[in-house]
Amino acid sequence: MTTHSLLLLPGDGIGPEVMTEVERVVAFFNKKGKAKFKTETDVVGGAAIDKHGVPLTAGALAKAQAADAVIFGAVGGPKWDKVAYDKRPEGGLLALRKELDLFANLRPAICYPALAEASSLKREHVEGLDILILRELTGGTYFGEPKEIVTLEDGQKRAVDTTVYTTREIERIARVAFDLARKRRNKVHSAEKRNVMKTGVLWNEVVTATHAREAKDVELHHILADACAMQLVRNPKQFDVIVCDNLFGDMLSDEAAMLTGSIGMLPSASLGAPDPKTGKRKALYEPVHGSAPDIAGKGLANPIAAIASYAMALRYSCGLAKEADLIDKAIANTLARGLRTADILQPNMRKVGTAEMGQAILEEIEKLAAA
Ligand code: NAD
Repeated sequence: MTTHSLLLLPGDGIGPEVMTEVERVVAFFNKKGKAKFKTETDVVGGAAIDKHGVPLTAGALAKAQAADAVIFGAVGGPKWDKVAYDKRPEGGLLALRKELDLFANLRPAICYPALAEASSLKREHVEGLDILILRELTGGTYFGEPKEIVTLEDGQKRAVDTTVYTTREIERIARVAFDLARKRRNKVHSAEKRNVMKTGVLWNEVVTATHAREAKDVELHHILADACAMQLVRNPKQFDVIVCDNLFGDMLSDEAAMLTGSIGMLPSASLGAPDPKTGKRKALYEPVHGSAPDIAGKGLANPIAAIASYAMALRYSCGLAKEADLIDKAIANTLARGLRTADILQPNMRKVGTAEMGQAILEEIEKLAAA
């Protein structure tokens, strides 16, 4: 039986609360599944600042490097608002992304039928929606140099951000997009702004060439990023995988996320390059939401994003797609039974807290696994 090593980093606020529910699901698969999970836990973010004075220790980073997957909760909160900029809790997550070279950020936007009413779009546009936004995470506008604010001779200030991409960076994210599409509905939309940006021109050229060389079996469309934003709210079901740069990916994934209802529902994965020897990718899985200080410690947090993040780890790091499907189905069944945490509460539904939602999902998993 294969053993997968997981590093759990619960973090701050509701992070530890939702991670507890993930651990219960891991324990179930350890008892009943066809693979074993060896878990280790460490502190990150504000919890690490309190204990060690830094948001990520060298020891925790080494554990993350060695693990098959990192499962991350959330970091941050008002308690650490005054710490120096370079020691912020969020620095722990950024350091992990950088050191593990996690360049591919996967954000699925799935609309469970039971939640179609919670979307801001009409039911027919979102019911059964299942799209994946693939965002380049380590290049582009957020990291390009120069990045500065300078004071000009006349006293005005000038701010500069630089958007930079190389062939290699675009090729490797395009490759991930085609690989993912093959496991889904085999369609990729590549979104850029080739009409006004040089990085868009290169992005378009490299994606086209990578497709011609390596992925002719996948349907490829090019779309301008602004048109993509529009189409996402007009007819989102036309998309399968959307691949884009760091900046556009940030916007489009948040937009797509809102089609599905609450932030408490959204998982994500960040993947690195495959190891040339083992083929394994470094990987971090985390809910999209933050530490939600307003509800932390109250047992109110929705654990679905965290549990669905673990399902993504099973799918993309452990080769356990059936088990991942089972968790996704268990979540859908639990919602169909009418259980809702406060963030997704609708009329005539039963309001539950974090532990009760986790327990209900676990029971559905047990039922499905026994069937
Ligand atoms: P947030 O995601 O923490 O919360 C936004 C709103 O959504 C809040 O009203 C919160 O109660 C609600 N919410 C979030 N997750 C929920 C869940 N699982 N169930 C129910 N409701 C949920 O974003 P924010 O308020 O902008 O940030 C709070 C802190 O989290 C800040 O310190 C921020 O820097 C940090 N943050 C961390 C991450 C991360 O760790 N990846 C991401 C975003 C924000």
